[in-house]
Amino acid sequence: MIRLRSSVLHNLTAAPLDILVVGGGIVGAGVARDAALRGLRTGLVEQHDFAEGTSSRSTRLLHGGLRYLAQGHIGLVREASIEKKTIHRIAPHLAQPLGFIFPAFAGQGNPLWQLRIGVKLYDLLCGGGNFEPSRGLSLVETRELLPSLRPEGLRGAVRYFDALTNDARLVIDTLRSASRAGGAVLNYARFEAARRDGSEWRTTVRDVLTGATHDVRARAIVNATGPWSDGLPHSAVKLRLTKGIHLVVDHARLPVPDAVVVTEGKRILFAIPWAGRVVLGTTDTDYRGRPEDVAVEPADAAYVLRTVNTWFPGAALQESDVISSWAGLRPLVAKPDGTPSDISRAHEIRRPEAGWWDITGGKLTTYRLMAQQAVDQVASELGAAVPPSRTAQEPLLPAAEVTPYSGVAPAPFTREAVRHYVENEWAVRPDDVLVRRSGWTYHDGPDLARREQVTRWMTEAGSKRTGDN
Ligand SMILES: Cc1cc2nc3c(=O)[nH]c(=O)nc-3n(C[C@H](O)[C@H](O)[C@H](O)COP(=O)(O)OP(=O)(O)OC[C@H]3O[C@@H](n4cnc5c(N)ncnc54)[C@H](O)[C@@H]3O)c2cc1C
Repeated sequence: MIRLRSSVLHNLTAAPLDILVVGGGIVGAGVARDAALRGLRTGLVEQHDFAEGTSSRSTRLLHGGLRYLAQGHIGLVREASIEKKTIHRIAPHLAQPLGFIFPAFAGQGNPLWQLRIGVKLYDLLCGGGNFEPSRGLSLVETRELLPSLRPEGLRGAVRYFDALTNDARLVIDTLRSASRAGGAVLNYARFEAARRDGSEWRTTVRDVLTGATHDVRARAIVNATGPWSDGLPHSAVKLRLTKGIHLVVDHARLPVPDAVVVTEGKRILFAIPWAGRVVLGTTDTDYRGRPEDVAVEPADAAYVLRTVNTWFPGAALQESDVISSWAGLRPLVAKPDGTPSDISRAHEIRRPEAGWWDITGGKLTTYRLMAQQAVDQVASELGAAVPPSRTAQEPLLPAAEVTPYSGVAPAPFTREAVRHYVENEWAVRPDDVLVRRSGWTYHDGPDLARREQVTRWMTEAGSKRTGDN
């Protein structure tokens, strides 16, 4: 059972921390885990629920990024390809190898011969081989596997491997690991201000649930606030936010046996089978609003449906087929020019002033490496003699804690699951359970009756918990 909020707050405030991580998305969670496992006094504060930002709104792929290969970013693809296998090793419950069929059409996109070379190179960049070797598919095989794919101009396809994860669960399980290692992690706690006082920071953190403010002292602060990271005091980050949306439809409406890659100009869209559903996405458009306000606009959904219908004309997907949807923002490091799809997914770790670290960009897939590099640098500034990072070897969770509540597919809808999320995974509000812990809303769509049931079960579990303590 996790510690109560009051006890976490005590740990955050009782004595100066070595590292205070701001932001409970995958990057912040990764930094907290790495630092706590190395014995640093670590705290993490998240203004909303854990993973409520970009890290529950991705395409959920652990991938090197085949399209970055076409752009010549070989180093980036290699780095991410090795990381996808590392995550598979430390957290197999959150990395399901998945085949991807990438069809080739005459006069459109990459020719088949290029795709064939590309996927072989992609396998090589994984270091020690991909989950399964890629291969070319003949025209006949492609038609057999994807009978509803547009036949005009079809030449054949390639099949290669990446892995499907569950982004929000990866965050929660990473935080559970950080907490086990002694990290004090708190959701609904907003970092509001910081001033340097000698060799440490004095910061103000607001408990969003009570409105109370708390003084948290730390020798180093890591700004891991993703799309919010240019808004924090002391931050030197310059961001270019791009929006991506996803739609979920029933698998029967688009019965693909594997993930399928379709192209639209420079963009790549995926149709990804997931627990009896297919996830369709994504888009990549510049975004200038507040991160909190990002939403799926009708034009975004229409674009995705139109593109999928172009390649699968028989599917004739309509708005009414959409079970659920989500929109997220890529916190990309700003470059003034280039289309959104051209902007590098490389990450940056900067120290604009003593003890303040900004960590930005990157991908879900590379979060562990980003965290390792960040903690190496912070520890060296602190002069702390810490052991090397263990996050590439240490299983994310002990085997006994990998339960049906934590996986790529949604957990069964039960009172026990809700109780588990409240008691062991910091769920406070209904969407913490419905959207991010269980995935029920994404899988089955919003459901008022279910929401009311979850609220009742959460109250029950919450009062039991308070009673226990
Ligand atoms: C549409 C889309 C698809 C993607 N698909 C993939 C994919 O398939 N594979 C892949 O590898 N990557 C993918 N990515 C990239 C990946 O999702 C992101 O790089 C990653 O989730 C960013 O994590 P983060 O921790 O930096 O940001 P976030 O997850 O946004 O976390 C930042 C957190 O900081 C919190 N915060 C902000 N201000 C404060 C404050 N003052 N106090 C406390 N907390 C604060 C926020 O509430 C937020 O929870 C995708 C991204 C998008 C948008």
